Amino acid sequence: MIQIAIDGPSGAGKSSVAKAVAARLGIVYVDTGALYRTVGYYVRSQGITREDTDGIVSCLPKISIEVRYENGAQHVYLNGEDLGDRIREPEISMYASAVSAVPAVRSFLLDTQRDIAAKNSVIMDGRDIGTVILPNADVKIFMTASDEARAKRRTLELQAKGMDVRYEDVLREMRERDHNDSTREVAPAVAADDAVLLDNSGMTVEESADAVIALVKQKTGCAV
Ligand code: C5P
Repeated sequence: MIQIAIDGPSGAGKSSVAKAVAARLGIVYVDTGALYRTVGYYVRSQGITREDTDGIVSCLPKISIEVRYENGAQHVYLNGEDLGDRIREPEISMYASAVSAVPAVRSFLLDTQRDIAAKNSVIMDGRDIGTVILPNADVKIFMTASDEARAKRRTLELQAKGMDVRYEDVLREMRERDHNDSTREVAPAVAADDAVLLDNSGMTVEESADAVIALVKQKTGCAV
């Protein structure tokens, strides 16, 4: 069993790179942001504002989240329903960031994440994987890129999903989310002391995946 933790800000290419590495190593890719997005989606559907911490906490007993892998792809079920790309909307990104700063939400999602890693070899991406969720991960990477490179990637990704978004709005919301995520009191998005920093601004997904696999070889001695 192997655990690879990838943390970093939004748009750093964590999910594309982690998916490529998972496919090459034959391990499970876990997108933990999807869990916070799912909670954010539910909170918004109840008409609760992002600032209403008590309202957010009051939703938790009504939420059941299940993660399933179907043909190698992760699907998150909210009370039995697969929300698909509805959790990718920019409005839901902002809700995810808001709910993720609430300690009760983080504890609510903790076991789901650790259970998957206990049963499978994983590459897990998020903001606190190396620091909180899998502190003993075999390999920890803090992946980042310039703000402009990240916003450009995120804009193209959302447009490819058919969403009508503008680069300037994506950049502004991304910076706001990064600020919230890195300055919050619980599990801020920071690199673990033993994480390796990977700035992939000028790199393709394949090049970043190569770099991650080289690190896995180096750290674990596995001939992967
Ligand atoms: O990774 P993604 O952009 O989908 O994550 C959405 C939001 O969920 C992030 O902005 C962050 O606030 C939160 N998150 C988190 N911890 C994680 C993964 C995501 O706080 N491990």
